[in-house]
Amino acid sequence: MSAAIHAFARPEVPPLPPYNAGLSSDAVRARYGVSEIARLASNENPYGPSPAVARALVDLAARAGTYPDANSTALRAAIAQRTGAQPGEVVIGNGSEDILQMLCQALLSPGDRVLTQRPAFGLHEIYPRMMGAQVELLTLTPELGFDVDAWCAALARGPKVVMLANPSNPVGCMFDAADFARLLAAVPAGTLLVVDEAYYEYARLAPGYPDVLALLRAWQAAGEGRSPWIVLRTFSKAWGLAGLRVGYGIASDAALVQLLDRVRTPFNVNLAAQAAALAAWGDEAFMAQAVARTVQQREALAAQLRALAGSVWPGLRIAPSAANFLFVDLGRANAPVNEALLARGIIVKPWKEPGFETFIRVSVGTDADNARFVQALAEIAGGQG
Ligand SMILES: *Cc1c(COP(=O)(O)O)cnc(C)c1O
Repeated sequence: MSAAIHAFARPEVPPLPPYNAGLSSDAVRARYGVSEIARLASNENPYGPSPAVARALVDLAARAGTYPDANSTALRAAIAQRTGAQPGEVVIGNGSEDILQMLCQALLSPGDRVLTQRPAFGLHEIYPRMMGAQVELLTLTPELGFDVDAWCAALARGPKVVMLANPSNPVGCMFDAADFARLLAAVPAGTLLVVDEAYYEYARLAPGYPDVLALLRAWQAAGEGRSPWIVLRTFSKAWGLAGLRVGYGIASDAALVQLLDRVRTPFNVNLAAQAAALAAWGDEAFMAQAVARTVQQREALAAQLRALAGSVWPGLRIAPSAANFLFVDLGRANAPVNEALLARGIIVKPWKEPGFETFIRVSVGTDADNARFVQALAEIAGGQG
């Protein structure tokens, strides 16, 4: 960026890191001359959305001349009904990242303190910094889990906003019910809790995964003056709609949703996105089947990787995951391994943050994609990189 342009910017903006969205399939095809791509970098659902979505989108072109419902009324009502919320407590975003941005714009001023951890979902750090907030980054335990003691101690220092992904992206670790109860006991008045459950539909199959919404509601009901909170979920992962951009939040108070409405772009969720999300939501069985399959495949993939660790790739370490991806420590620099995977048409996400340059995150794909990934690692280990 040129200095002349910088002079126009708010001081918070030029130092922000660009969001690391990874390479597109077309870019990999063009650069490496491979035709078959295994997309294992973005935690997408390889089975896509319910067939009901295609039916809902089919006659949309005829309606494209009209603005969408600015309040996503039908979708909010449907989400409220199934989650036990009031429609006024539900906010819909152009992806849940849109809601993260609204929260930061509505809540954070320069100097406010935000608590999250590293490595984490990039926007949990980038959006607060965009508003001039100070972001405290907690570290993982040596076993690649949440450091619950450190979280409780940091909460006691009274950050204004807490961004907690449960389970974590990229690690896949989770706060279980006991951990979450300890966390809640440490939340001081004046701290707003954002629980990002982007992988909720996968994680709820993991033993011990807490019903955070129920725990938060009970906590709120049990005390006067409890802090507000919001739970974020998305249609991008389990529901197979990443391309259409729909996320939702369930807030402790309708007043918080009204606050977000002040900063929300009025037509933030387009016509196709609302129709598709509503159709997908109506076919929960399809989603549940895809999720169950992915969870099984995740365990199979982890077992195959552990077999590599016990044979050709000593030092390979796999973090336990409650989500649709695995965070893998290669025990050696990730960049050359990533290049060798790309040359075979396999896209994963190499981690770049300090201390994690030996890690990659691999999404659980189809059986064929997962097998290609394992086979490729075996070849790379054998020096056929
Ligand atoms: C994928 C992801 C999101 C973003 O989801 P969108 O709804 O596509 O914006 C949010 N948080 C976490 C932790 C994620 O991994």
